[in-house]
Amino acid sequence: MEEIKNFKEDSNGSLVASKYIKQGETVLCVPPLTAGPGRGHTAVCLGCCTRPETALVACSGCGWPLCDQNCKNFHFPQECEAFKGEKCDPATFNEATNIYDYILPLRVSNILKAGNKELLEKAAKVDVKTVIKSVREKHEKSERSIKEKLTKFKVSNDEIERSVSLLERYCIPLDNGARGLYPETMKLTHSCSPNTYFIGLSNGWCIYRAAVDINEGDLITTLHIPTCVDKCNYFRSKILQESGIKCSCDRCTDSTELGTGFGSLLCTNCQNFVAPEKPGEFSSAWKCVGCGSVEDGSKCTGILDRLNKQILDLPKAATQRDPIKLENIIREKPGDWSRVPDSHQLILDVRKQLAFTYQYHTDYYFPKCDFLNKKENHCKLWLEQMEILAPGWSYEKVLMKYELGSAMTSKIQAMKEGGFQSSEVNDQCYKATEMVEEPIKMMIEEEELSLCTALKQIKMIAIEAREEQKTRVYLNMWADDEEEDW
Ligand SMILES: [Zn+2]
Ligand SMILES: [Zn+2]
Ligand SMILES: [Zn+2]
Ligand SMILES: [Zn+2]
Repeated sequence: MEEIKNFKEDSNGSLVASKYIKQGETVLCVPPLTAGPGRGHTAVCLGCCTRPETALVACSGCGWPLCDQNCKNFHFPQECEAFKGEKCDPATFNEATNIYDYILPLRVSNILKAGNKELLEKAAKVDVKTVIKSVREKHEKSERSIKEKLTKFKVSNDEIERSVSLLERYCIPLDNGARGLYPETMKLTHSCSPNTYFIGLSNGWCIYRAAVDINEGDLITTLHIPTCVDKCNYFRSKILQESGIKCSCDRCTDSTELGTGFGSLLCTNCQNFVAPEKPGEFSSAWKCVGCGSVEDGSKCTGILDRLNKQILDLPKAATQRDPIKLENIIREKPGDWSRVPDSHQLILDVRKQLAFTYQYHTDYYFPKCDFLNKKENHCKLWLEQMEILAPGWSYEKVLMKYELGSAMTSKIQAMKEGGFQSSEVNDQCYKATEMVEEPIKMMIEEEELSLCTALKQIKMIAIEAREEQKTRVYLNMWADDEEEDW
């Protein structure tokens, strides 16, 4: 691969665009400083971090997994030597396990020990205590095994915490649960409306592309914690805090999140948005933007926490979810749900659940206009809201657009069976074809083309359905003519 670095450092050490970068164009493409297995996964090659199609082999030096005896990229001779005293049973290469969890933190601690300036600078800025606390809560078993092993390799407790927190804060997920660390991407500024989207490739490299057009000199921004993009201020601030990130983007500094009410409550007096008086201070007073009435912050966050728990408690498998119950939450807004506006994250979470339930749940497998219309609507409303909060291209949106496209093409079938007018069916074919154009344009640039292929299939189905419609119209016209002649 070829390195691409369309950026330069400004006086604060932040990265800005070194030229005009068009939407979808590569902003940076770089190899990792180091990479290694993630937490609790099956083995990957310690040399290149991939999982070969054929089986992994045991390194002839130390017995740990490699894709091939010659693949030693990150498996340096010193590491091979050190691992000789550690047992690794090849029979466990295919099991999900914590035994590989320590390798990447060990590699990072070695790089820090060797005095890598860039990494040391970043490590010094990480809020180690906060990050370690949340990591230990989330990955207790993994953290214990890392600590035990690294202590054995004579890494001090401080160094362990520094390496783990640095990784937690900055690493990028690769294929098969592996993770990579990149000095360049650590310099990117976090924003909850980022102007880039990124992916870690299976060869360890990472690519950041422009989510929107970026002008020369513009700050390049990223989501250091990708999962926070579709969370509202309140829940997002918790996630960012756990990672020690202080964000001052437009979303975080505006209590109504760009006027959307994505994290607001509804005022019981005037139905306007109620949001924290001081942005980011959720336990202080919340105030109505309409009538000015004030509510206790902890009461407001309590409502959000309770409703969020209801969503978290929903079954993970689509077949176990109850679409009727979910539709009811949106329509009837029972209990505390009446306090959140339609534009609230939690309502959009329900819509997202429904988008990934219809067509997956066995009761909603065969195309029917009724539920496909609902799915179309849920997808569209979610996408519209996300476009305001984080404009431009992103993988989250592409997945939702795939769902939308799939509902739209399925509806063509349902409309034909339901005896809809040709012109109406053709219109649906046209809309479906047009809808997938943009996500195809985005995904065609990717290394991994399966989603692009799936989107192209949707387009083909819609085009073919339209062609088929035309033929039917011609046949009918011909049949009518014949009848008149007779
Ligand atoms: Zn390899
Ligand atoms: Zn080895
Ligand atoms: Zn932010
Ligand atoms: Zn009010």
